[in-house]
Amino acid sequence: MKRYSVTIIGMGPRGLSVFERIAAVAGSRRLALDINVVEPGDCGPGVHSVRQPQHLLINTIASQVTLFPAPGAVQYPPLCATPSLTAWARQAGYRRVGERYYRLGEHGGADITEADYLPRCLLGEYLAWAYRQIAALLPSCVNLNHHRQRAVDLLPLADGRYAVELETGYQLDSDFVFLTTGHGRNVPDELDARLADFARAHARSNSRLAFVRHAYPLERLARIGAGARVAIQGLGLSAHDIIAELTVGRGGAFVEDGQGNLRYQRSGAEPQLTLCSRNCLPAAARGVNQKGLDGRHQPHYFTPAAVDALRRMALAGRGSRQLDFERELLPLLKREMAWVYRSTLATATPGGVAPDPAGFVPTAEDDVLIDQLLFPLRGRRFATLEAFRQYFTDWLRDDLAEARLGNVGSATKAATDVLRDVRATLQAAVEHGGLTPASHRNFLAVYHAAINRSAFGPPLRRNQELLALLDAGVIEIVSGPRSRIDMDGQAASYVLSTGFGDGAVAHAFDVLVVARLDGFFPETDDSLLIRNVLKRGLVRPYCNGDFHPGGIDIDAGGRPLDARGQPSGGLWALGYLVEGAHYYTHALPRPQLRSRQVLDADRCVHAMCAQMDELPRPAARRAAADTAATALQQAAL
Ligand SMILES: Cc1cc2nc3c(=O)[nH]c(=O)nc-3n(C[C@H](O)[C@H](O)[C@H](O)COP(=O)(O)OP(=O)(O)OC[C@H]3O[C@@H](n4cnc5c(N)ncnc54)[C@H](O)[C@@H]3O)c2cc1C
Repeated sequence: MKRYSVTIIGMGPRGLSVFERIAAVAGSRRLALDINVVEPGDCGPGVHSVRQPQHLLINTIASQVTLFPAPGAVQYPPLCATPSLTAWARQAGYRRVGERYYRLGEHGGADITEADYLPRCLLGEYLAWAYRQIAALLPSCVNLNHHRQRAVDLLPLADGRYAVELETGYQLDSDFVFLTTGHGRNVPDELDARLADFARAHARSNSRLAFVRHAYPLERLARIGAGARVAIQGLGLSAHDIIAELTVGRGGAFVEDGQGNLRYQRSGAEPQLTLCSRNCLPAAARGVNQKGLDGRHQPHYFTPAAVDALRRMALAGRGSRQLDFERELLPLLKREMAWVYRSTLATATPGGVAPDPAGFVPTAEDDVLIDQLLFPLRGRRFATLEAFRQYFTDWLRDDLAEARLGNVGSATKAATDVLRDVRATLQAAVEHGGLTPASHRNFLAVYHAAINRSAFGPPLRRNQELLALLDAGVIEIVSGPRSRIDMDGQAASYVLSTGFGDGAVAHAFDVLVVARLDGFFPETDDSLLIRNVLKRGLVRPYCNGDFHPGGIDIDAGGRPLDARGQPSGGLWALGYLVEGAHYYTHALPRPQLRSRQVLDADRCVHAMCAQMDELPRPAARRAAADTAATALQQAAL
């Protein structure tokens, strides 16, 4: 039996899904494999470090997180048991004590419920456990090697294989390679450089001055002193991590006030915080889950069939299958949300009946309502900072009240949860050039953020904490929508200013922390591996016409396209690297559902096996590879 070598570069959750699928196929088909895992850290966790503090939570309830395929979703069954994160945490003996989780066995503390959002360090432990389980159950025909290093280059070899170069210079030759390097960082742009230079240049006058471009790992926030005035830029999920680190992480505590609200007890080590962003409004809290593990709204209008029909019409009428999101897809999505909103309200009233889906047409009022859910600030102007502050806290309180009613009980949360439930259709509509370039640009700039803000926000508790921190004065809102950041050399401080109807308001601060994850743009990514594969033309940036949303170009099977647009033979890329051609690649799999992360991995592994079955003799492969390599060099020139 021929032995093949497979290298997985990056063993975070995505690499782990690939590993799990390879192990399953190898177990069923008794493949003789040498699996090389190139991962500088522990295998499994990726960004979800097991060493991070417990106050950093996952943003999906843990019972809806798994690493494994749903029963029947894949051909080859997993090698090991397939618990969800919650089931694993229970089996591992974790129990809840207050807001913390400890391995207490069967007694003490409280059971973990299906509704718990667990700390991300437990997610990291779960992923590391999954890796160890799979590794331990590999069939004897499979060898596994973990190279605790970074890959820095990838070269096609003359015999059609690939050489993976590690940072020590060691070279791994492989028949097949999977690229799953996950989250990356961009090199600083001009504005980043100016903000950082300013902090350095004025450090003598203001020793607190700092620009924190990348907040993770959050330990780096330790150098922010208690007296510093800190502006957190961005109000998404990373902002909640940063807030937690600078408050609870500094010894503060939240206590229940007996009426369902929280009060914050200061430790005295917290800096003074403020929040700013384009909108300066937090993401809506997730509604309490009332849909169980796999419950989802079954769409009437925004369906795969409807999207296909639109494509056929576009092809027939315009000669292109590309759609316009705002004009063609958004009306279906809004109709879906409006129907859910109206039927939730109707069925909540005694004797009420949901509108007949066949005849339901959203009214102008429905349209405004859905717009308000997606864009709460649209059309609003604030005369003063005080008026905006009032709006901010009212909005938070109203949203929390809806979240407590749940994702079925609240008309608002049920409507926005539609966006989560139809994600697979949205992905199919957007991916691989599904939208026109202009519409793709507009979708990512306008609607993607609105969808995230309204449907993929933090656990309810996080926004309760935000209110408590505002009440305690630890966080103060000192800016509004469309604020700007300047640098005041004389005062040696950054300045946050907003124009309100009655005049501009400016606020000086010392530390700017960017609460935003970098998108993956191969040309500006700081990874040597990415720079090298781009330089040698093994991959190219993905473009939809004249729009580059980020990511590298791939074919429909997940194989990177080289500089000439040719798919690379035995190379696949999954996850964040292909965010651009794909959409929303970073969500973890859900139990019971045909999850994208698992299905993508399964498809690529099947394609690898198909190549194993078809691989020509070495001489023929070498000839084919020579031709390809020459063409690639010419294209890269
Ligand atoms: C702070 C944070 C919190 C998140 N919370 C959630 C959440 O609660 N729920 C959710 O669904 N999603 C969450 N996500 C989204 C996240 O994208 C996924 O959960 C998941 O981590 C993606 O897995 P990945 O393997 O693609 O990437 P990563 O987790 O980034 O893992 C990539 C791995 O590749 C390795 N690597 C990188 N470069 C190289 C190289 N050159 N050579 C070798 N190895 C390399 C890295 O060391 C890393 O281990 C969060 C993301 C972040 C950043």
